[in-house]
Amino acid sequence: MPRTVVTGAAGFIGSHLAETLLARGHAVVGIDNLLTGDLANIAHLRGHPAFVFVKHDVTNYVHVEGPVDYVLHWASPASPIDYLELPIPTLKVGALGTHNALGLAKAKGARFVIASTSEVYGDPLEHPQKETYWGNVNPIGPRGVYDEAKRFAEAITVAYHRYHGLDTKIVRIFNTYGPRMRVNDGRAVPTFISQALRDEDVTVFGSGRQTRSFCYVTDLVDGILRLMDSDVNDPVNIGNPHEMTITAIAETIIRMTGSSSRLVTRPLPTDDPKVRQPDITRARTLLGWEPKVGLEDGLRETIAYFRRKLQA
Ligand code: UDP
Repeated sequence: MPRTVVTGAAGFIGSHLAETLLARGHAVVGIDNLLTGDLANIAHLRGHPAFVFVKHDVTNYVHVEGPVDYVLHWASPASPIDYLELPIPTLKVGALGTHNALGLAKAKGARFVIASTSEVYGDPLEHPQKETYWGNVNPIGPRGVYDEAKRFAEAITVAYHRYHGLDTKIVRIFNTYGPRMRVNDGRAVPTFISQALRDEDVTVFGSGRQTRSFCYVTDLVDGILRLMDSDVNDPVNIGNPHEMTITAIAETIIRMTGSSSRLVTRPLPTDDPKVRQPDITRARTLLGWEPKVGLEDGLRETIAYFRRKLQA
C-alpha cells in the first residue's frame, strides 16, 4: 500500500485529494494547521483505517514516522482576501513550508508534488498561458505574497530535482471550484453562490469583463494524480480552458439558483488579472488529460453543497 503525505489536507483541494487517494488504495497522512482548512472537510475520512490526521503547521519542521512514497504539498491560503489578511503565513507556507515538505520527501525517498498556480503568470501578457511563459508579476502588490511564494516554491522544487535528484512534479492550478470551498472564501464562485442563495446583491468587481476559466474539482484531482503517476518533471497547467467573463459566471449562477439577486459593481482589486486561460496542450499530450465536467454540471453540485451549508 503506497503511503502519501498531503499537506493542507483539510482544505478544499487537499481534502478531495486525500479522499481520492484513499479510494485508490493509498494510506494517507493528512497534515493541516487549520488556518484556512476545516475539519468538516475531512470528517467523513476520520474513521477510515488508512487515514491519519495530524494538526501541524508545516512552516515548522515536519516529522512523519515510517516510510513515505509521495509528498503532496497543498497547504496554503489561496484566496485574494486571504493574502490581505494572512500575508506572512502565505509567504511562509510557500517558502518555508515547501522547504520542509521537500526535506521530508528527500529524507523518505518520496516523489514530491507541489501545488503551484496560474498566479505565477501574474497579469499575463501572453494569452492563453503556456507553461513556457515567465509571467508578469508585481512582487510588492497585494497578490505578491502568494505569487512570489509560489514562484519561490517552484524554484526550490526544481533545485531539489536538479541538485538532489528528487522526483518532483509541479502542477500549475488554474481557477477551480466545487464543494468544500468556504462560504466566506471571497473568491468569485463561492461568493456569488452564497450571495445568490441569500438573494443578496452579487458583487462584480470592476467592469466584470475580466475573464477566468473555471475547472471542476474532480477534473483537477484527476489531472494532479495523472501528473503524480507520470515521468514528467516540468510544470504542467491543469485547468479548464473554457474562458468566460466574471459577469457571465455571475449571471449563470443567478439563473441556476433561481435567485432574485441583482448584479452590483465594486472596485476592482489591485493587480486583478484581466484575462486567464490555460493552454493545456502539455497536459493533453503528456498526461492524456482533459477536463470532462461542464460548467453547469459542476455548478449544480457546488450550488447543492452551498445550499446545505447555508441551511446548517
Ligand atoms: N470577483 C468579483 N466579485 C467577487 C469576487 C471576485 O467580481 O465577489 C472577481 C475578481 O475581481 C476576479 C475574478 O472574480 O476578477 C476571480 O476572482 P477570484 O477571487 O475568484 O480569484 P482570482 O482568479 O482573482 O485569483
